[in-house]
Amino acid sequence: MKLSKTFGEFGGQYVPEKTLAVLDDLEKNFMHYIQDPEFKKEYMYYLNNYVGRPSPLYYAENLTKHLNGAKIYLKREDLNHTGAHKINNVIGQMLLAKKMNKKKVIAETGAGQHGVATATGAALFGMECHVYMGEEDMRKQALNVYRMELLGAKVHPVTEGTKSLKEAVDKALEVWVEECDESFYVLGSAVGPHPYPTMVKEFQKIIGEEAKAQILAVENRLPDTIIACVGGGSNAIGLFSEFIKDESVSIVGVEAAGKGIATGMHSSAFAMNKISTLHGMKTYFMLDDNDEVVPSYSISSGLDYPGVGPEHAYLKDIDRVTYTSVTDEEAFNAFHTLCKTEGIIPALESSHALAYTMKLALTMKKDEIILVNLSGRGDKDVHTVAEFEQVKLF
Ligand SMILES: *Cc1c(COP(=O)(O)O)cnc(C)c1O
Repeated sequence: MKLSKTFGEFGGQYVPEKTLAVLDDLEKNFMHYIQDPEFKKEYMYYLNNYVGRPSPLYYAENLTKHLNGAKIYLKREDLNHTGAHKINNVIGQMLLAKKMNKKKVIAETGAGQHGVATATGAALFGMECHVYMGEEDMRKQALNVYRMELLGAKVHPVTEGTKSLKEAVDKALEVWVEECDESFYVLGSAVGPHPYPTMVKEFQKIIGEEAKAQILAVENRLPDTIIACVGGGSNAIGLFSEFIKDESVSIVGVEAAGKGIATGMHSSAFAMNKISTLHGMKTYFMLDDNDEVVPSYSISSGLDYPGVGPEHAYLKDIDRVTYTSVTDEEAFNAFHTLCKTEGIIPALESSHALAYTMKLALTMKKDEIILVNLSGRGDKDVHTVAEFEQVKLF
């Protein structure tokens, strides 16, 4: 079996010559181990016993009644250990790193969610862990920096450029290539050079596999629409991949419109309809008139990335998935609605998917079904919500 390095014209390996050999070695090992039943068994062991899978598919009956539209089901990735879907991918990559005899893992992080997930996996598997994080992000997310340190990781400040996620990815890639003999780069979303987007999908597709079996068990049919938020696109591709071949299922990815697309303060890679190469891949990016990448903005840090995974770019171009966006304000409203109707505090990222779900449900029949991925829990966002609403906590 040979893996394609691209999704249509998107993806690829836009990296320096010496990185190609490292990626090649990674691809060979990835291909070998995903076909190895022992590896699969070990991966499933940790997903079931450590992460707490399978995650429930919950019929949000109160929310459904509140809206009086389509039936809404929530895929509860928020109930995973560490509170989001990211751990699924971390366990997979960490096991691969172990098989490849690496002693050390490297990761980038924005707000710290992938950093915390990687530090967790490193503690579990006894690996040395180095996380690269923009200095500005470290200041904003001091608690997550401390969490990573508690878990035994070393957090390295990145001082280039805007001192945030984009530069952290550059730095992590650079360090990895220097230390590739002993280190493994654990990438946090379905982005970067091949084979990362394919590998991250492989380790997140459990979401869609479970969700499909679960909905068939309770409803005896497929959902009409499935919805997920899109930052780099890992939780979305994890849910979508199992349903792409099911033509009756419409699929929607929701990006962050921030303060509104027209203000320029957003994180929608698709909004400008511009294609470029960065972080080793060809895909849609937010670009200015000189085709330079512009900084993204969203109230939810997990969606705050100026690009999008290359497979999503392809799925958009072939018209299989519809991509849309919702604003900070719409996400906040959805956040409150889920808190009050279901007693579930959702992540602000997931609240974007919920906001679109709530709009769409109103336009659908009562016997139609929406399945939405609740990618994470919102405990981490409570202070952001309080600040946005000018509630003084301390
Ligand atoms: C990181 C994160 C996201 C966005 O990342 P994707 O790769 O697009 O899934 C979404 N939801 C939560 C809870 C996250 O932590």
